[in-house]
Amino acid sequence: MRTLRPRFLAALMAASLLLVGLGVPSQAAPALAAVETAAVPLAKTGVASVKTTANLNMRKGESTKYAIVRTIPKNTTVPVSQQAANGWYKVSYKKKTGWISNKYAKAVSRHPAPKPKSGPSKKINLWVNATAAVNIRQGSGTSHKIIGSLPKNAAVKAVARASNGWYKITYKKKTGWVSHKHVQTCVKGCQVDTGAYTTNRAGLNDRYFTKSSGTDLYAAAGKRLRIGDIPKNSIVYRDLRWEKAGGPVAGWYFVRTQGMDGWMKASALARKSTATTSNTKNYTRKQVVKKANGMLPESMLAAIPWDKEKTLIAAPALADLTRMNTAFKKKFGKNIDVDLAYRTLDTQKYYYKELGAYIAAKPGTSNHGWGLAIDVPESHAYSFRGKYYKWLKSNSKKYNWLHRKNLEEFRADGSRNPYAEAWHFEYNGQ
Ligand SMILES: [Zn+2]
Repeated sequence: MRTLRPRFLAALMAASLLLVGLGVPSQAAPALAAVETAAVPLAKTGVASVKTTANLNMRKGESTKYAIVRTIPKNTTVPVSQQAANGWYKVSYKKKTGWISNKYAKAVSRHPAPKPKSGPSKKINLWVNATAAVNIRQGSGTSHKIIGSLPKNAAVKAVARASNGWYKITYKKKTGWVSHKHVQTCVKGCQVDTGAYTTNRAGLNDRYFTKSSGTDLYAAAGKRLRIGDIPKNSIVYRDLRWEKAGGPVAGWYFVRTQGMDGWMKASALARKSTATTSNTKNYTRKQVVKKANGMLPESMLAAIPWDKEKTLIAAPALADLTRMNTAFKKKFGKNIDVDLAYRTLDTQKYYYKELGAYIAAKPGTSNHGWGLAIDVPESHAYSFRGKYYKWLKSNSKKYNWLHRKNLEEFRADGSRNPYAEAWHFEYNGQ
């Protein structure tokens, strides 16, 4: 049923009265046809049925100008399907449909009041977390079209709250409404969405190192553990901008570490790395790969001494990496940038869940899990066309580091390799 704005209706009503007043004959179809459009939506009148108060003529149209269809006896209750702007009812009686005057018909039943549309919304600014996968809808209510889905545990900023409690959010470029029943709100130490995956650095300088093995990283301050096995002396950057956005909370830092972000206890962090920078226990590569992937003991890890992030790597791989770096530095005047080396099991699981099997290795299978691989940055100089990559590709073997053939840009048949990675090098030495 179409709805008309009151002002428009009033104009139509005036026009219809005028036409009747001028005595335009019922045969003047074009003019009278316009009157029909003035029918009042029943959602507004609410009349569902009427009872005749006299023997009443049912007519073809909504005035006495129209021909009589039949007569409805007094005290008959008939269903109403429409009401004209002049008040006449469109009714059905004994399989005929026509119009009766409202002067001789009394409303006896009404439609239930239409459901109120979601009322005015209030502007807000807080984080919400989905407690279950929840539909994103065009409007604030289940009658609105579904335009997307907010996955369980996702965090988004709510910018408005409807009078029925629903929140207006944007997720993956889709703006819509989610039910308040499936989200939790947060104002302090909140889980935030910092956008796409970034490296540890993200342009940050506020550098810390974890003080003990098994440091916890949470999605929200003290809630939703993301990683529980971060090794001692791992690089951690505090991100004040997002800490502020997530609602600062005493004793907690919002940080980036292990290529992800989250909240960490301030007391778990120190300004300096205390990690050893050599293979003090003379471990071999063979001994390392006998350990469970992603669960190396602290003694098997060493910090890369020339790396300002003191990135942790399997101790036996360090000497050769340092030799390679010396040659690299001689050539380019700078150290090799290492984005990532050792990855714990929890970290691998998180990547696998977040990035998917296409990008992340199956947890427990990556050479990063033994600290026997490094990732250099994804910058141009380290890309397939870049000078650093080209140098590393042709020189790394001398230092027992290799870039696997199946990570090359093109396959043997010349086709592009969808699994290509210019940044990943593995240790193959003793
Ligand atoms: Zn890698």
